[in-house]
Amino acid sequence: MSGSARRHLLAIEGMQPPEILSLLDLAENYALLNRSGKTQRDLLRGRTLINLFFEDSTRTRTSFELAGKRLGADVINMAVATSSVNKGETLLDTAATLNAMHCDLLVVRHGQSGAPSLLARKVDAAVINAGDGTHEHPTQALLDALTIRRRKGRIAGLTVAICGDIAHSRVARSNIHLLGALGARVRVIGPPTLIPAEIGRLGVEVFHDMAAGLAGADAVMALRLQTERMVRGLVPSAREYFRFWGLDADKLAAARPDALVMHPGPMNRGVEIDSAIADDPARSVIKEQVEMGVAVRMAVLDTLAWSARRHAA
Ligand code: ASP
Repeated sequence: MSGSARRHLLAIEGMQPPEILSLLDLAENYALLNRSGKTQRDLLRGRTLINLFFEDSTRTRTSFELAGKRLGADVINMAVATSSVNKGETLLDTAATLNAMHCDLLVVRHGQSGAPSLLARKVDAAVINAGDGTHEHPTQALLDALTIRRRKGRIAGLTVAICGDIAHSRVARSNIHLLGALGARVRVIGPPTLIPAEIGRLGVEVFHDMAAGLAGADAVMALRLQTERMVRGLVPSAREYFRFWGLDADKLAAARPDALVMHPGPMNRGVEIDSAIADDPARSVIKEQVEMGVAVRMAVLDTLAWSARRHAA
């Protein structure tokens, strides 16, 4: 992305491999720097980062905050629940307000797919999509790819299985685009009610049976069952769901013996993943995903900080 004209990070779809790889390489450097305990507090000194979260978040919001602070930016978390948004201010009024504050980087999470793109057309800041509806969650896919690449040494040629609630998952969509762009084989596994019919067009293989879908997989991602986005009951019960689709030792036995176990969080233990697998340090890289989240967000902020309209000479 550096050196290119990119102003925002709204989606992985449409990003070319060199752009993705340069972000991963920069993030890799930040991962090493973070482990060494060093910081780069001068890089974004004087820049303002606003975290605007219209939906709940723990990992994503905190890691953007930490990433901004590690690079020296002034970080503001706008608590939407107490802001004017709840008094009926429209998204565009919010954009005008943020512009007046001369914000450089705007991190947005919103329940509506496309809301960050709308904001990006109206604000001078560089906009980063931190998850919009069921559309995309680009930094999650970048951190997942970084985690896989660090463990496996590559992405190309690997088989990655994404399991569960594909229909409501922006994480799945961003991962499908990114892993596909870097040459991985992507499988999606889940009940027909949770796999959109058109998903095959994105170049994935579709499975409705865990044993078949996990066979030979190098990495397995379990997804949260997103009941808050379901308009009607698409699964019988949590117990039943776990029996057929929950990732446990028995089902994981079909994957490669060294397959990575991943989850974007927050986890519903005993629903889409068994605690014994999630907490197994020999298999699970879930904590490393969180660690890589900070490094990836540092790389994204570093790359985009210079592209805000008011700084682009
Ligand atoms: N944290 C991820 C997201 O915001 C996954 C999830 O919520 O299940 O999409």
